[in-house]
Amino acid sequence: MPPRMPNWRALNWLRPSPEPPIHEAGDPFAMARERMVEEQIVARGVHDERVLAALRAVPRHAFLPEHLRHEAYLDTPLPIGSHQTISQPYIVALMTEVLGLEGDERVLEVGTGSGYQAAVLSLLAHEVFPIERHAELATNARQVLARLHCSNVEVVIGDGTFGLAGHAPYNGIIVTAGAPHVPQPLLDQLAPGGTLVLPVGEATSQMLEVWRRTSAGLERKEVTPVCFVPLIGEHGWRDDVCA
Ligand code: SAM
Repeated sequence: MPPRMPNWRALNWLRPSPEPPIHEAGDPFAMARERMVEEQIVARGVHDERVLAALRAVPRHAFLPEHLRHEAYLDTPLPIGSHQTISQPYIVALMTEVLGLEGDERVLEVGTGSGYQAAVLSLLAHEVFPIERHAELATNARQVLARLHCSNVEVVIGDGTFGLAGHAPYNGIIVTAGAPHVPQPLLDQLAPGGTLVLPVGEATSQMLEVWRRTSAGLERKEVTPVCFVPLIGEHGWRDDVCA
């Protein structure tokens, strides 16, 4: 059975440029998703109403292989192929909240994976540019995002450690893979007042860091320890890091 889609019409208030929505009545996962938001996300301290509404709206199950859909709303990352994962819902919510999106931003996401995080961002920002190094993941994410009518998202295939200079600067940059250090191109592509959120540390465990470009220069804060797959690329890890 194809995944049920959210009522995007009801969500137009989340983003400034309403798109022609699709609507399919009924969603077998609606209650599970609501429980996910209350028990995994609100209970852990994420309170931004726009972020919570986006998490309530985006059908995480649509971004998973058929055989894993029944696990879509569990408190865990899940495999999506190519040895990669869709992130834990709480971490998606936390990183999204840190960006402080109000609706008119241009956002770069490094590590598209399934496309789920990009769909959440698409409801909260003006334009989203997700970049993914695995072509098959990017292609699949493109298809799901198109089916959900996320028309303000443009998935790019490539090494996101270079950022995406063609669309810079970005008000928000979110990196959903663990970096050994902050890639300099991402800092260079951060707009004045912009926020970069990314995991930095070892290949298998990192600290979630937030960088802000203020009038006084770059500010850095630590949020919480996290555990992401490695960011592989010219300004990240070599691709034999886990060999
Ligand atoms: N945000 C994703 C989602 O919503 O499903 C989950 C991302 S997964 C934890 C990390 C992703 O980063 C993987 O798909 C991986 O291939 C990708 N990745 C790693 N290094 C990358 C790079 N240099 N450029 C782009 N993508 C990269």
